[in-house]
Amino acid sequence: MIHLVGSGPGDPGLFTVKGVGCMNEADAIVYDRLAPEALLAHARSDADLIYVGKKPGEPTMAQEEINALLVRLGREGKTVVRLKGGDPYVFGRGGEEALALLEAGIEFDVVPGVTSGIAAPAYAGIPVTHRGLSTSVAFVTGYEDPTKEGQDVDWNGLARGAETLVLYMGVGRLREISSALISGGRSPETPVACVRWGTRPDQRTVVGTLRDIADRAEEANLKPPAITIVGDVVSLREDGLDWYERRPLFGRRIVVTRARAQAGELSRELEALGAEVFEFPTIEIRPPQDSGPLDDTITDLDSFDWLVFTSANGVAAFLERLRYHGLDLRAVPRGAKIAAIGPATAEALEHAGLKVDVVPKEYRAEALLEEISVDSLAGRRVLIPRAKVAREILPEKLREAGAEVVVPPAYESAPSGEGAGRLRKLLENGEMDCVTFTASSTVENFVGAFGDEAGRLLSSSRVACIGPITAGTARGFGIRVDAEATEYTILGLVDAVVELFAAAPEAATPVVRKDG
Ligand code: SAH
Repeated sequence: MIHLVGSGPGDPGLFTVKGVGCMNEADAIVYDRLAPEALLAHARSDADLIYVGKKPGEPTMAQEEINALLVRLGREGKTVVRLKGGDPYVFGRGGEEALALLEAGIEFDVVPGVTSGIAAPAYAGIPVTHRGLSTSVAFVTGYEDPTKEGQDVDWNGLARGAETLVLYMGVGRLREISSALISGGRSPETPVACVRWGTRPDQRTVVGTLRDIADRAEEANLKPPAITIVGDVVSLREDGLDWYERRPLFGRRIVVTRARAQAGELSRELEALGAEVFEFPTIEIRPPQDSGPLDDTITDLDSFDWLVFTSANGVAAFLERLRYHGLDLRAVPRGAKIAAIGPATAEALEHAGLKVDVVPKEYRAEALLEEISVDSLAGRRVLIPRAKVAREILPEKLREAGAEVVVPPAYESAPSGEGAGRLRKLLENGEMDCVTFTASSTVENFVGAFGDEAGRLLSSSRVACIGPITAGTARGFGIRVDAEATEYTILGLVDAVVELFAAAPEAATPVVRKDG
């Protein structure tokens, strides 16, 4: 079975529920350049991901080859998602693929997608039809050169045939297309907008009229992929419908330096405000060098009365090691109690299916002792699977209370060099607007990765820290700090970033990027 699935225009949220279902089932995903990479997260972990888009320095895979690939996979009895940008049947050659499958006798279906010709205008503040302005809309390919003989697009007819024209693939031919429309009878003053990478945080919009749009797009160095909208509806953008580009962090490129597994919330909040987020985890969580001590506790799990977890990482590492030994939650002794320091740790345990008996009101190790009645600890065995290097307070206090405490290293956090080379380049080119630090350790690891250059690399972007301790660490390394959260939480940091840019409009000049 081959599903021809539309990926939507770029924003991964604009993917259909049916598309997600197909992705979850598929043995293979065949995708190309315009399909958002983020959607691949819906694929099974063992699915074959087959890229058939343009690769630098290589010719694009011919349509016949793609058809043949789909037919072959179909004959092998595979369930396949053919993931295509936008909608598969709108200038996507989906029809050709469907015909090839039909001819080969392979079952297929089509899951329509949100086409860029509607989504990019919507995100740029342009309704493609509007009472009083436009009662008709035509989707047109701008691929052909209108000055060439014997072409398929009837520009004269189109010029007066629909009130709104939506052009795909036409940015390279704006000059020829505009003059063809003008000679076909469309007013040179007709408003026109070009929207590049619509619905993505790097969306860019250039507005003009049929007379000057080619010059304006050229001045702005606008490159494909872009949608061009011709018609009076374009004026609604100027009236204030451009909700997406008005978001407080729209167009801002912000670096998140947390460990990959923990970056989620900060990245999501920044993106919701329009920012383009670059995750450069400076810390990496990895298994301890020696798993022996943890393994010993797992084979002897029945002897423990308490399991105390101090982080979600510890929970993950413990469960991973259980699985490694061919065990599951049933290995946790029935009578044992479970304690979690911090709500995220408790959530990780509950999520895994383990009921948490005790969560101290304060998220500090010491607070746990107050929750567990002291005399009940005499002679009890307590297991604390946690980071290799951690504060000793908790095990010491438990021991003082008479407990027998085992603290096997479950994971270690180490500086991560992942992506450092790329980040250095982006910072050097002045392409990042802001770098965020959520803990002193993220500053230390940043400095660890870039050494003496850290301060210089950060000089062309803004630096925002989650609180005074992190900011102090940064200043200690000679890093200028532009914003400090007043509430020391992720949301507090996000607020500080928003205020930083609101208070410094001069910094709102968009960075000139290499790709224009
Ligand atoms: N099937 C796709 C169109 C494929 S043709 C769809 O329904 O959207 C490729 C053209 O689509 C590009 O040249 C560009 O004109 C347009 N396009 C695709 N994604 C786009 C996006 N995010 N922003 C602007 N244009 C886009």
